[in-house]
Parts: sequence; structure tokens; C-alpha cells
Amino acid sequence: MEDDAIGRIDALVSLARSAREDNVDEVLRTVVETVHSAAGFEIVVFNKYQPAWDDYEVVLVIGPPDAQALMHTRESREMFEEQLVSSQYEIHPGIYFVPRSAEVWSNLDNYVIPSPNRPTIPGGWDPEDALFVQLRNSKGEPLGILSIDEPRSGKMPDSSELRMLRAICSHAEQSLENAQDSAQAERVQNRMTQLLGASKRLSECQSHREALVTACEALVPRLGFERAAIYFGDGDSSLPLAIANFDEVAIAKTLELPVFELFRDHTREVGGCWLVPAQTVHGSAHGEFRSRRNGAGRFGWSDDVLLAPVFDGDGVPRLVFAIEDPIDHLRPTEIERELVRLLIEQTDAALERITLRTRLEYLADHDSSTGLLNRRALSSIPREGPATAALMICDLDHFKAVNDTYGHEVGDAVICRFADLLRSLSREQDFAVRLGGDEFMMFLPGTNLQQAQSVAERLRVAMPPLMSPLVSSEVTVSIGLTQIDPSEHLIDAMRRADSALYAAKKNGRNQIASN
Ligand code: GH3
Ligand code: MG
Repeated sequence: MEDDAIGRIDALVSLARSAREDNVDEVLRTVVETVHSAAGFEIVVFNKYQPAWDDYEVVLVIGPPDAQALMHTRESREMFEEQLVSSQYEIHPGIYFVPRSAEVWSNLDNYVIPSPNRPTIPGGWDPEDALFVQLRNSKGEPLGILSIDEPRSGKMPDSSELRMLRAICSHAEQSLENAQDSAQAERVQNRMTQLLGASKRLSECQSHREALVTACEALVPRLGFERAAIYFGDGDSSLPLAIANFDEVAIAKTLELPVFELFRDHTREVGGCWLVPAQTVHGSAHGEFRSRRNGAGRFGWSDDVLLAPVFDGDGVPRLVFAIEDPIDHLRPTEIERELVRLLIEQTDAALERITLRTRLEYLADHDSSTGLLNRRALSSIPREGPATAALMICDLDHFKAVNDTYGHEVGDAVICRFADLLRSLSREQDFAVRLGGDEFMMFLPGTNLQQAQSVAERLRVAMPPLMSPLVSSEVTVSIGLTQIDPSEHLIDAMRRADSALYAAKKNGRNQIASN
């Protein structure tokens, strides 16, 4: 076999191998080198379709140094697809021959492939002629365009050479599509890993705020966006803004009914998310670009906002992500939107879990009839800090008699009123606890015995008039007081206050004793 033919077979074999194993850049190089060596052209330029910008960019050139100057030049899709790769120049399916005489060249000042000075064969290839091959994926979307020039033979390619070129390019289409699919799969895989990490962090969050910050950090930038806001509410007609990274850009402080209406339009929904113009949600953008990440064309981001809502049982959104500025300038694909959807669902679940846990903790630490802290909550009273504190234990006097005379319901009402009185005398830093039955405790941080005495006295004096609407006899309270040092255990101070209370009872009740 001739060396030339062996070289061609080698080139084809490496193209087939590249299709299976390589990344997009390596596949591109192999494709260009195969056209150069197997199809026999001196100048081969790959114009890669850039979906974010809807144009073609020269990403690879084989040829003399002046042909290399084309690197990174760009041409619009219209120029290529409507003027060069147009049916009038199609000489073989998918291959376009644009001769020197074509008018289109005058529109393409930047896109001139320099031709070497060499003798031309009469009737052969003119240095100003060019061949183009359009590469498309299996969905018919553009992958790129090969610009091919200078056949080594100096002749116009004949039909078998064109068939060969087409065969190489069909193979190249498949290889490129495979490589792009794997690159996309890898990107999605990375984002899924990020999502998994976020999901774990969400499950460890202790507060709503922490969960919302965690979700925001997952969106920006881990899921590929630069701006995200979260609207979070409890089912009424508006959702207040929770988190935003919107710096100077206008953003709605609340989402109102008109935005909710958008969610009725399921034609805009893909992957559980709605892509709508940001202006519709956030109002006027003063005619300027809003996004820092706008692209162009139908795949490019264009001052959009991606909304992902979670609805309550009545169809009212209770949590909405509003996301902008994709780092890759592209409108997110369906799978990318589904990842956002997964994140919002995990965030919603985390928020619900935190709400339930907060409610449970509240129930576990509070007395259900009075709403005061219960005995279990004693362990959560903070004991650090240098200041001394005062502790008082109160017990209603002859409360059994109240029950016996007026019934348990009135007894209950008396207990609730006493709890209200304790609450009204409490400062923010104080703890009012129902220890059980008719026995209560107040813990007063930063309070000395004298100050506590005056609080206790106010309590004692307030009792009879407060209870008189409920019972005709006088209801009084006895109070035991003590001071507690920073280093002392609460339980020791409680014992002392208890013995003071015992003394107050023994001394005739309706009085304060300290210990
Ligand atoms: P003392 O002055 O010595 O404290 O006499 P007391 O009758 O108040 O006796 P004690 O404090 O030992 O008894 C409290 C009574 O309060 C016992 C119980 O029947 C009643 N009690 C406890 N919890 C409740 C409650 O939630 N509602 C009502 N109505 N009564 C309760
Ligand atoms: Mg009592």
C-alpha cells in the first residue's frame, strides 16, 4: 500500500479512537488533523459553535502562520449559516464550495483565509476558493463548521474525495457529540456532588436562617449561578425576601400575587422551574443590562430570572428561589433546572424539619397550660457570667382550699393568672418557671437580694386584687428568696430558696423570707 494511503488509514483509526476516549479539545484536534492528513488539505480551520453567544469562534487552525492569525476570531451564526453554508454552494450533502467569485466574500473582511502564493493548475483549485463543512449533532443543532482550503493536489476535490471528507466529518460529528455529552455529564455529576454536600449541610442546620444561607451558598456558585435570592413566607399572599446577593441590582423585596400568577403558565416551566424576564419579577431595569452574564441567541442568558417555587397544599408558594447570572452565560438546561428543583425541595424539607423541631423543643420545655418554662427547662438556664443572680420560689397559699371551694377550673384560672403576673414582672433576661402544681420559680440574672426583695414584694402585693375577680376569698403567695453566686449550681440555690419558702409558710404565709 502507498504511504499516503496508510497515513490516511492511521488518521481515520485515531479519529475512531478519539471518539471513544478523548475530551472535546482532543477530539477537535484529531478531527482537524484527520481532515488535514487523510483528506489532504493544507489549511483546516475549526469554527466552534458557541451556544452562549450564538456565534462561531475559531478554536483550532492547521496551516501556515498567517492562517493562525484567525485564531479566536468570531463570526455570527447568520453569516455562516445563511451566507456561506447556503444551499446555493452545496456541492455534496453538507459540503459547501464557495468560489472566489462569490459575492459573500465582500461581507467577510475578518474572515479571509490567506492563500499561499503557488502556481495554480488551470481549471484547478483557486487560492481564493474555500470549502465549508457544517457539523451538526444528532438533534440537528450546530456543533461547528470546518473551513477547508488548499487541497494538496492543487485540484478541485472529486466526488470520491468529497465522499471521504463527508465520511470523516460524519464521524467527527459523532465524536464531538459524544465528547460534548460526556463533558456535560461530568458537569452535571459535579453539580450533583455539590448538591449532595448541600443536602448534608442542610440536614445539620439548626435555624431557618442557617438553612436559607446554606441553600444560597449551594446556588452561588456551586450550582453555577452568581446571584440568588430566596423568598420565604408562611402561606399568605406575599413572600418576603430572605437572602440576596444582588448588590446594586434592583430586586423586589417581596413577591406578590402577580408573580404567583406566572406559575400558572406551565408553558414556561421546565424541570420544575420557570424562566421569565427578570423585569417581570423585579420591575424596571432602566433599559440597561441587568445581568452580568448575558449571552446571545436562543441558548444565551438574556436578563432572565429562573424561579423555582415550592407550593403549600392550597397552591400558594411558600418558598421561591429567584436565580440570575449563570456563570456559563447559558440558559440552564432541563437537567440543570432539575438540580435547582432538588435543592429547593431539600431546603423546604430542612425548613420544615427545623420548624417541627423548634415546635417540639418548645413543647418539651414549656408548661402547656401556662406557657411558662417547665422543670425540664431548668438545665437550659445559662449559669455563666460574673454577675450574681437572685432566685425566688413561690407557692400559692392554701391552694387546695381554692380547688375545694371553687372547683378545679377556677383553680386552673388562678394558676394561669399567677403565671401571667410572673411574666409581666419578668425582664427579657429573666426566667419564669412552673416547677409543678402551685409552685413557681423566678431566676433573675444580675439582680442582688435587695432588688429581688422588691420584685417579690410587688408580686405578693399584686396577688389578692388580681385574683379577686375569680374568687371571693383572698388568694396569697409565699415566697422564698436567695442569692446565687456565679459558680454555684442552680439546684443548691433552689434548695436554699425552698427552705426560705418553708420558713415563710411556717411564719403564717403571704410573706417573703430569704436565706
Ligand atoms: P400550702 O399553703 O401549704 O401551699 O397549701 P396548699 O393547699 O397550696 O398545698 P400544696 O401547695 O401542697 O398543694 C397544692 C395543690 O394544688 C395540690 C393540688 O391539688 C393542686 N394543684 C396542683 N396542680 C394543679 C392544677 O394544675 N390545677 C389545679 N386546679 N390544682 C392544682
Ligand atoms: Mg401551695
